[in-house]
Amino acid sequence: MCRCIYCNSDDLSVSDIISYALTGAKVTKKFVCHEHNAFTNENFERFAIANLDFFRNSLGLSERRSGKDIKYRANLVIDGITIPNVAVSGRTSIYEDKKRLFSAEHDGKKVLIGNVDKLKQKKGVCAGNIDTLDMSDTVVSVTFSIEQLFASDEMLRTIAKIAYEWYCYSNKINSFIPEIYQDIVDCVLMKRNVTEFVEIVVDGNLDYALKDICYLGSHGLFEYVDIDGYKYVILNFWGIIYYKIRICNLNSPNFNLANYYNLFLYAIDGEKSETCFGTMGKSNFISMPAKQAMQKFNKVYASKLEQLVKTTVLSLAKMKELIDELRKAITIYKQPPYDFARLVEYECNERITTIHVLLFLLGHEENYIFSSSFNENLKSFYKIDDTLTVTVEENKEYLRYLLQLHESGTLLNSIEEGITFFDKIYLYEKSNIKD
Ligand SMILES: [Zn+2]
Repeated sequence: MCRCIYCNSDDLSVSDIISYALTGAKVTKKFVCHEHNAFTNENFERFAIANLDFFRNSLGLSERRSGKDIKYRANLVIDGITIPNVAVSGRTSIYEDKKRLFSAEHDGKKVLIGNVDKLKQKKGVCAGNIDTLDMSDTVVSVTFSIEQLFASDEMLRTIAKIAYEWYCYSNKINSFIPEIYQDIVDCVLMKRNVTEFVEIVVDGNLDYALKDICYLGSHGLFEYVDIDGYKYVILNFWGIIYYKIRICNLNSPNFNLANYYNLFLYAIDGEKSETCFGTMGKSNFISMPAKQAMQKFNKVYASKLEQLVKTTVLSLAKMKELIDELRKAITIYKQPPYDFARLVEYECNERITTIHVLLFLLGHEENYIFSSSFNENLKSFYKIDDTLTVTVEENKEYLRYLLQLHESGTLLNSIEEGITFFDKIYLYEKSNIKD
């Protein structure tokens, strides 16, 4: 029998320990009461998540319940015209949007931008005063503060909540034990200053030990007892940052000089795994207040975020999203004038890579092993251990190949076959995901 791990109430609801908005892996348990579930979500979690919208979109996470693409606020620059502060989910948001028109200023005049059909329906607009914009160099620009993302009060509170709930989950603690956990519970419930409990690890040893284990988009967690006698949880967030969360005082310092830890990994594509690693030396990971760490190592975190945005983490979920976009483009491409430029989204690298991976998968259809995951299959086909990198030059070359297929009239058929095969993979994995 469980009771609420914050208050011992038995009016229980299921808690998303790591919010579904932040991972593809399902980590849930029915051990938080309705009141406290609502409290954590409404007071800080949803704000912390909203701050991360742009990066969640890059990772291919979808909107909590609806499964729709995540929208974020950005400035769009199309053909020299800036459309400020619009909610978009990518470059195609503007011209694929059949509902919205966007107003902007150009050369001191007000202009409306949007889908041509939608524009024509607008009063006072006639074909004569519609101009076609060149979409090829559309820029989506987002501004954010790294400190706001990772060191805000809301974020640190969210981290404390994840750490405490995960700790209870992995130690099978099924009720609130005030003698031990009063402090951390008070911290999550906003009765204590969060900076006393959550810091950022700035310890090169940890980074080194886990650099090949924690990867972009995943969450890694482990617990340990420090030389100071406290028990901590370390949480690696998206392969970017290590948080250290003080869970409780054991009053028993750990003097071991060789330590082993059980690391739990929750990947963006839903996979869960467990791995062991060890460190030599005192049991202590150096940390500092979050805001201070963000200022001191701003460049490090900025470059990791840049990597996260540039790298398409080809999880099954992300691939599904890319394929769904491609599917829409294909319905347009099927009709005259069979617009190749639009199909490859005006030479968008992401689109070209999507078609590349799709046709590559199709080429390996006979060797695809359904009992292995999508990522394992990709890795073995591409013969890589870590990240598949495609250069701009390689993409240009592939584009020429696609153009040949287009001109010979075989491109449509190949892509459609590829999509059918991908759908088969997707359905198979979805029906086999373990809770
Ligand atoms: Zn409660």
